Amino acid sequence: MRQLFKNGAALLLAIGSVTVAQERATFSVGTAVASRGQKVTGVIEVPPGIDTALSIPVAVVHGAKPGPVLALVAGAHGTEYASIIALEKLIGLLSPEEIAGTVIIVPLVNTPSFEGMVPHLNPIDRKNMNRMYPGRMDGTQTDRASYLITKEVVDRCDHLIDLHGGDLDENLRPYSYWTKTGNDPQDRISRGMALAFGLDHIIISIDRPTDPDASRYLENTATTRGKPSITVEAGYAGTVKPEDVSALVNGCLSVMRYLKMLPGPVTMIEHPVWIGRILTVLSEQTGIFYPLVRRGTFVEQGMKIGYVTDYVGKTIFDARAPAAGVVLYICSVPSMRNGGTIASVGVVAGSEAFK
Ligand SMILES: [Zn+2]
Repeated sequence: MRQLFKNGAALLLAIGSVTVAQERATFSVGTAVASRGQKVTGVIEVPPGIDTALSIPVAVVHGAKPGPVLALVAGAHGTEYASIIALEKLIGLLSPEEIAGTVIIVPLVNTPSFEGMVPHLNPIDRKNMNRMYPGRMDGTQTDRASYLITKEVVDRCDHLIDLHGGDLDENLRPYSYWTKTGNDPQDRISRGMALAFGLDHIIISIDRPTDPDASRYLENTATTRGKPSITVEAGYAGTVKPEDVSALVNGCLSVMRYLKMLPGPVTMIEHPVWIGRILTVLSEQTGIFYPLVRRGTFVEQGMKIGYVTDYVGKTIFDARAPAAGVVLYICSVPSMRNGGTIASVGVVAGSEAFK
């Protein structure tokens, strides 16, 4: 009986996957319609509303075999170049014949930012394209784009990786974010994704919104919808360093192996530096910023990490580390305004400063 039951379960499973395979004879995102075993590119058309229309490029790699749907998204911040170039490379690298499952790649959400070299924001409506999720169709371009990405990408995937890199003004040390939701099965998979991705500093996010209707961030939109997902950052100050691009490309491939979408063994980071808390150091003056530490430096509480002068050389503000920790990024340009970000210091989980 036991054996029969087991066979029955196997049969049911087999039927289940056949059904899924049949359901997904084609997989479409925006204008990209891929048959099984095909790689197709297209666009997600954001129609005009109270401002102009936007076409967001997308690629769909519909694997020869059924499996999970992984969404890879970059360029919400269009000048975080290493992450954008990494996904452009990945579109070329992935072969549908080798893949079990489907990969949705959105390499550049914020084309106006990329084309205009405008950091942080969408220049059309001056909104941050990673703060307006899940979006709405009666808002400005960023709201409408966020709504359509939620519907076309987040709702269609099982897992999502949101890729970022230090922006033009951020000298950033690579790291990933792991969101701890309290739902153990989901957290176990997303933790595995972060460890498989391979960046050795991992920020534990516990303060993200829990309401799916007010999710703000892209990864959080997937996470609050029950999809194990992570955010990763590599690249800094507008550079496209081969080591950053390959860390991101290899990280995505490694997560695909972890999710059994690609064959082969997975190498997981065994002893990452877990960051429990992030402290932002803001400038209290407008002027010229001079950094005194580099990204990745471990600093003590109170240590001077940079200073601001007026435009004729007089020091008007000393920036100090608010706690002991690692400098995740520090401002990479001299332009500094009152209230601007000087640095982000990650407090190591379990360290004295964390308690
Ligand atoms: Zn970003």
